[in-house]
Amino acid sequence: MTVDLQAKRVVVVGAGWAGLGATYHLAKQGYNVTLLEAGSYPGGLVAGWKTTRGKSVEAGIHGFWYPYRNIFALINELKINPFTTWTRSAQYSPGGLEVESPIFQDLPRLPSPLGTFAYTHFKRLPLIHRLSALPLLYSVIDFDNSDQAWRRYDFVTARELFKDFGVSARLYQQAFEPMLLVGLFAPGEQCSAAATLGMLYFFILAHQADFDVVWCRGTVGEKIFRPWVEKIEKVGAKVLPKHRVTDLIVDSQNRAKAVVCGDQVFDADAVIFAVGVTGMKKIVANSPTLQGREEFRNLNNLGAIDVLATRLWFDRKIQVPRPSNACFGFDATTGWTFFDLNALHDEYKYEPGTVIEADFYHANQFLHMSESEIIAKVKTYLATCIPAFNQAKVIDSSVISLPNAVTHFAPGSYRHMLPSQTSFANVFMSGDWIINRHGSWSQEKAYVTGLEAANLVVSYLGQGQPWEIIPVEQDEAHIQIARSLNQTLRDVGKSILPEFWLP
Ligand SMILES: Cc1cc2nc3c(=O)[nH]c(=O)nc-3n(C[C@H](O)[C@H](O)[C@H](O)COP(=O)(O)OP(=O)(O)OC[C@H]3O[C@@H](n4cnc5c(N)ncnc54)[C@H](O)[C@@H]3O)c2cc1C
Repeated sequence: MTVDLQAKRVVVVGAGWAGLGATYHLAKQGYNVTLLEAGSYPGGLVAGWKTTRGKSVEAGIHGFWYPYRNIFALINELKINPFTTWTRSAQYSPGGLEVESPIFQDLPRLPSPLGTFAYTHFKRLPLIHRLSALPLLYSVIDFDNSDQAWRRYDFVTARELFKDFGVSARLYQQAFEPMLLVGLFAPGEQCSAAATLGMLYFFILAHQADFDVVWCRGTVGEKIFRPWVEKIEKVGAKVLPKHRVTDLIVDSQNRAKAVVCGDQVFDADAVIFAVGVTGMKKIVANSPTLQGREEFRNLNNLGAIDVLATRLWFDRKIQVPRPSNACFGFDATTGWTFFDLNALHDEYKYEPGTVIEADFYHANQFLHMSESEIIAKVKTYLATCIPAFNQAKVIDSSVISLPNAVTHFAPGSYRHMLPSQTSFANVFMSGDWIINRHGSWSQEKAYVTGLEAANLVVSYLGQGQPWEIIPVEQDEAHIQIARSLNQTLRDVGKSILPEFWLP
């Protein structure tokens, strides 16, 4: 397709889920879109590539949960078939197998959250500890993902939240904190209670099937981004890797008129930033224009988390009971997961040995270890879960360090995160850390923020149609009733009592 030279020009910065989503929609609406990506490949945190030895690797393996309705719709539109079937998962501690999860949608549907409680198979955690989560259901009802709810819960740590609602120490240590380490990538004392409740509800509690997950049958880069980028280029957008944006140029009316990328300048009628927190902080550090705005200066209050993605090739076949596994109790503040790639990836289906991806979240203290030390540690950890790894030899490996790579939803961070609309009329924000009401931190949220930013451009520049975003599935009827009752009580309380307590 040729680009219409009269078309309005949009520059999108960052080619992860958010940037690609925005670019795709705007190019389809006839805009002249240029997508500038600092890295060598599109995909952002989900990029995949080949090692010098020709082996596929990626920046950590990524699951696609049942509520990712917009991503699943995109996959249908692209007519690609990247996913495994729904998979079962397990959880290990140094003591062995702790939890097994079924495929929830295959079991008789119970009102939420009964299915999750009834069908999750805890091997050791006594019922009395599991029941100690019941009072927490009040906060699940009270936290409805609205701006007010975020402001009420964001200053509290997840640890305090669970403690205040009477969750037993064992349930916290063996279920909730592991979930935080692999879900928000931080220990409970470092997670916002608002982000925690949002994640818990979106991925686990809202509907029985929400915890069901599929994986790509190869790297997401190969299976989704490659065909998607081809399509994006076909509809006329320019995707330019190895282009790191450094600044924004504004006109006398404080509208962005160009984006600076080293010694190149890209003219723009609108700009969408779709970079992570760390990337955005670096742009602001270099940009007097952005430094002039408080909202951008405030980004220096936000943090990010270190992640480590490893892939190990073993010399023999080892029986791994479940394809995806989360682990806790190995390091105090680090969570990790491991995946049987022979079961998940087409490329390794007939491999004579076993291929394992092991990813570490909040891996701060691992980043100073050598590659061989890391691989030895991973092997020991795997052998603790599945003793047959003791006898196996590692014949190849890859270690990818991702310092400051992912958003840290720290207590009190919400007030510094940005909405999609900025104080520049034609500059819009997207990415997994941007405030929106679509579920919780995820690829789905990142993608939807990109579509929302694209829709703001459509409305600002007045050309084309907005993308029809599929909303998060409605709350079940009993949750809707409980939430509306709770809201009424809150409103009545507010009308008779002064608001003299802290939010
Ligand atoms: C190990 C790991 C496992 C994860 N597992 C899951 C999972 O199982 N399921 C799930 O849903 N989510 C998962 N996530 C989270 C998910 O990857 C992210 O939420 C999502 O990919 C973020 O997309 P994004 O578009 O917001 O940002 P990013 O993917 O961070 O993309 C931002 C892009 O901007 C580029 N950029 C930065 N600065 C500049 C600049 N100055 N100029 C130009 N370009 C720039 C970057 O290179 C990058 O490509 C995981 C993340 C990690 C790291």
